[in-house]
Amino acid sequence: MGEYPQVFERRAQVRQFMSELRSAGRTIGLVPTMGALHDGHLSLIDASVGQCDTTVATIFVNPTQFGPGEDYEKYPRPLERDLELLASRRVDAVFVPQREEMYRPFHSTSIDVGQISRPLEGKHRPGHFQGVATVVMKLLQIIPANRAYFGQKDYQQFLVIRQMVEDLDVPIELTMCPIVRDPDGMAMSSRNAYLSVADRSRAACLSRALFFADKLVEAGEQSSSVILANMHEIIAENGGVELDYLVLVDPDNLSPVRTVNQTALAAVAAKVGITRLIDNHLLTPPAVVNENNHS
Ligand code: AMP
Repeated sequence: MGEYPQVFERRAQVRQFMSELRSAGRTIGLVPTMGALHDGHLSLIDASVGQCDTTVATIFVNPTQFGPGEDYEKYPRPLERDLELLASRRVDAVFVPQREEMYRPFHSTSIDVGQISRPLEGKHRPGHFQGVATVVMKLLQIIPANRAYFGQKDYQQFLVIRQMVEDLDVPIELTMCPIVRDPDGMAMSSRNAYLSVADRSRAACLSRALFFADKLVEAGEQSSSVILANMHEIIAENGGVELDYLVLVDPDNLSPVRTVNQTALAAVAAKVGITRLIDNHLLTPPAVVNENNHS
């Protein structure tokens, strides 16, 4: 177990810490999270620790990205355990603001990133990406890091943040880290803790469907409708999984693709019991893999 990172609850404290580091010329990596940390989060931390002199994590369950009736109140908040995990990973500092520290009484600004935030999660969780973009922008103002790390698990979120950073000239380099999965294939998520044992085994069909799509594409299947039909079949086998969406889309602009002759993103969102889960996987046809190998 390493040393506990410095824990800051106030914006002014973390700003002071950052300005000292920046004037010493250190590169700083930022890893924003909502806590209830697992190996997926820790992979982002490891990437930052490997590439930056100093790593700052944030833990903040951001109320503005939860819709009415979603799980804001009951979202897990095991702070002591999170700090122990961070201590085991050479994190230098953690910013853990209270809600009132991030959103003062008359807070009124919200960032709408536009088209890329509209489909998929944007459609099913109205207002979600405004909340995400606004809190990430605030965190980048409070913690002006050189790099920030996000997971492919929230693929659309990464595209939204990338668009915002480009549009608003935020001087930061973004990295998307691969999805970390449990041995049964399920993408790790803080929300998996809500699943009953039965729901958990039902939910594993989502990643099974994604991997089956991968196999089909690898074997030369290019028809989206054939691939999607196979995925639907795998998900329907189980019962108890209520899809919000299951799509094959362009990985840059999220528009639907009919023929998988370039890398496509398979993305899924579903409710299993009371738990809403998302997952995705990039599908690359063999010709594209070969082209990439030759270049
Ligand atoms: P969250 O705490 O859910 O807001 O996630 C914080 C960051 O961790 C986001 O950038 C997520 O995409 C990333 N993340 C969450 N789960 C995983 C996972 N299983 N693998 C990789 N990154 C993840």
